[in-house]
Amino acid sequence: MDARSQRSDGSSIRLNLLRVQGPSVSLPFPLPIARAMRYREGVRSYENESFWLATLGSDLAPRPALDTDRRCDIAIVGAGYTGLWTAHALLERDPSLRVEICESEIAGAGASGRNGGWCMGAMSGLHALFSDPDRRDGAVRLQRQLFATVDEIGRTARELKIDCEFAKGGMLRLASTPAHRQPMDEEISRLRALGFNQDDYRLLDPRECRRRIRGRDFLGALYTPHVAALNPARLVRGLASSLEARGVRIFERSPVRHIHRHGIATDRAQLQADRVVVATEGYTPTLPGFRRHLVPIHSMMVATEPLPPALWETIGLERRETFADARRITTYGQRTADDRIAFGSRGLYHYGSHVRNLFSERDRNFRVVTQALFSILPQLASVRLTHHWGGALGVPRDSRPAFGIDERTGIAHGGGYVGEGVAASHLIGHALADLLCGIPSPAMELPWLHRNFPKWEPEPLRWLGISAVRRMGEAADRSEFAGRDANRLFKRVFDAATGH
Ligand SMILES: Cc1cc2nc3c(=O)[nH]c(=O)nc-3n(C[C@H](O)[C@H](O)[C@H](O)COP(=O)(O)OP(=O)(O)OC[C@H]3O[C@@H](n4cnc5c(N)ncnc54)[C@H](O)[C@@H]3O)c2cc1C
Repeated sequence: MDARSQRSDGSSIRLNLLRVQGPSVSLPFPLPIARAMRYREGVRSYENESFWLATLGSDLAPRPALDTDRRCDIAIVGAGYTGLWTAHALLERDPSLRVEICESEIAGAGASGRNGGWCMGAMSGLHALFSDPDRRDGAVRLQRQLFATVDEIGRTARELKIDCEFAKGGMLRLASTPAHRQPMDEEISRLRALGFNQDDYRLLDPRECRRRIRGRDFLGALYTPHVAALNPARLVRGLASSLEARGVRIFERSPVRHIHRHGIATDRAQLQADRVVVATEGYTPTLPGFRRHLVPIHSMMVATEPLPPALWETIGLERRETFADARRITTYGQRTADDRIAFGSRGLYHYGSHVRNLFSERDRNFRVVTQALFSILPQLASVRLTHHWGGALGVPRDSRPAFGIDERTGIAHGGGYVGEGVAASHLIGHALADLLCGIPSPAMELPWLHRNFPKWEPEPLRWLGISAVRRMGEAADRSEFAGRDANRLFKRVFDAATGH
């Protein structure tokens, strides 16, 4: 059922109002009231859950649910990038495979339809491995494979005719203080020693930096060309449609309640399979038997209204470079294809690994996000923010992504990207497909892949630990912005806990 609602900026958005089970309804109430009511009644309107989904311009009505028992070769739980790239790679290897996907909401309702759209040739935890002599070479190979993955995603999107607004303008890590700038010299020396050259990473002095981005007085930047900006929802929705066109069944609004070696079950039906893949990332702790594999950390984002050309003259980002500053609490921004800034920052954990999908615009955490944005680009302070949203990403205990088949349960899994999953999920999806098809591949030899997730501590230790680490990171950032040395213990604990 399709309704229209008037926004504060005068534009209107389509609302697909759907009940969990039963007929569609449309509500004749102002948006905030209607939203609250829908949530109370178990109704979800996906357009309200991210800027990317809101502006997709295509139908978000759910596909049919799994409501009769079936059989397939490989059943996948979760229709985000990991599940969809795995399905895509499986069909590449063996087009005769019957792959079916069960998704609790709609394809892209998770992090894949909400993220910052940085398609990055990077992976969490990789830099820590560069200092391990036994795994250094493998880590360098993995890094190079990630560089190639960025181009591979652009190429595949073009081939599948997915217009995901892919622009490979690179990434600028901006130094706002001497404490941000100094470690960049050391980092570049380390990267050179590993064989990465100017074409992979380089330092920009303040003048070069100003040619690309103008805002605060930056002391320079670390630049890498191996990052593209893209529209995440267009990519995930496009992937789902292309798989469907190739015969993959995607059952939506079909939350999986039970998973075992040879099948999955929803409230209504069972899907038997030779193999099951769990691809639920930040939502994994909501699955029985997986509560302590990953924790959901929530990242929050805002988008500005489209900015006029005169304002862009003062900002730059002509190649749609992605940008962040070098503080510990991650920030990430991109110039969207329709000339807005989409910007986020992350770090919220809710007790008991509770996952949230909807955030009030008045949530005080958005103030932190906008302060970070305005501190990088002060000229945005008077522009209107038209969208506020957030989402859950999956963090493993050791901050390193993983994939594999659990020997004990026989269930395959992939994820744990710590907020760097747009490109890494492609790599892991392809590696999982090799593993499931029994094809030996170089991906199997890469460090730390093909392993299980170490378990997180039970509550309240989990909450206490994560909250303490976050506070230490924030305190260290505050000191450095104020021109003071950050507490060394805080820096060490934060870096060790976050895998830096
Ligand atoms: C706000 C935000 C910003 C981010 N920014 C970036 C970025 O700029 N660059 C980057 O590389 N990464 C970023 N990330 C991380 C990136 O989005 C994720 O790593 C990636 O999307 C993970 O994909 P996934 O398929 O593994 O998980 P998801 O996309 O979360 O998909 C999991 C799916 O499983 C479904 N599911 C959950 N439970 C069940 C169940 N019981 N039964 C069936 N289905 C279920 C969910 O509905 C969901 O659709 C960001 C994440 C967030 C939240």
